[in-house]
Amino acid sequence: MARYEVIIIGGGPAGLTAGLYTSRAGLKSLLVERGIFGGQIVNATLVENYPGFPEGISGSELGSLMHQQATKYGLEVIIAEVTGLAPGQPYNVSTTEGSFEAAAMIIAAGSEYRKLGVAGEEKLSGRGVSYCATCDGFLFRDKEVAVIGGGDTAITDALELSRHAKKVYVIHRRDQLRAGQVLQERAFAHPKLEFIWNTVVEEVLGDRLLERLQLRNVKTGQLSNLKVDGLFVAVGLMPNSQQFFKILEIDDAGYIVTDEMMATSATGVFAAGDIRRNSARQIAAAVGDGATAAMSAFRYLQGMS
Ligand code: NAP
Repeated sequence: MARYEVIIIGGGPAGLTAGLYTSRAGLKSLLVERGIFGGQIVNATLVENYPGFPEGISGSELGSLMHQQATKYGLEVIIAEVTGLAPGQPYNVSTTEGSFEAAAMIIAAGSEYRKLGVAGEEKLSGRGVSYCATCDGFLFRDKEVAVIGGGDTAITDALELSRHAKKVYVIHRRDQLRAGQVLQERAFAHPKLEFIWNTVVEEVLGDRLLERLQLRNVKTGQLSNLKVDGLFVAVGLMPNSQQFFKILEIDDAGYIVTDEMMATSATGVFAAGDIRRNSARQIAAAVGDGATAAMSAFRYLQGMS
């Protein structure tokens, strides 16, 4: 079985930074990614808050540059799904492409889109229901769409969708947005955006394609129908921590508990980025976590020899 000093799970900004640091430190390192290098950021049209790019940079370009830089110093990468992590020294990582051993682990598996969990959502997913405005927004040229949520993602998505759609409803369960002030000001001033407050989606309706939403006002209980061609769900993220429940301390929301050096409850296992508790969930923060986790893994391995 192939043996490494460090195995990194996840190829987003946190994992790629960890890989850059461990490989530059001369550690035999493997990074396992199940999808696209860059993680969630590949969906961002323009990243404007990552230092070093004053004009902004597309998420996919930033992800690709991070991958290029991380693999320059000997980091090995594979595309595979991690199916298990068995404790012990070494740790045993089973994946869809075989099993590997490592003395230290860095878990940077990120998070995925949270679903609404209402009737019709799954059936109409890809048939009008989407979780990525950047990916699917262009399909709704001159159509009417709704965005669910009140955070940065929902408002960024609504503004992105306004470039294509003729009307964008933002449906939020409270009467105040969670999104940052600048985004809020842009959104409130936008003529194509209409806010529907204190409202949740009860059901997503349509035969072959999405046709309408059944809405419920949470204050009055009143039900209503809204005809839309597209539904963009932007209600946050869920950590991809399921495989690690058995061996790591995980909080009630599913995030891995770490200390400030990214150490988890298991010796030699570190976590970085969106998957850890109290992450700022920003690219810059994930990069910082990745560097810290790599340095902690390096110190841990030095202590072992
Ligand atoms: P978020 O900040 O967790 O916001 C999720 C939103 O969805 C909240 O408004 C929440 O309502 C609502 N919500 C949650 N569950 C719901 C449900 N079941 N039904 C209806 N509404 C529901 O998630 P996010 O917007 O994806 O952002 C994630 C992180 O990435 C944040 O830290 C954010 O700052 C960051 N981010 C930054 C940028 C940027 O440009 N800097 C862009 C995107 C994301 P409540 O408000 O009532 O809780």
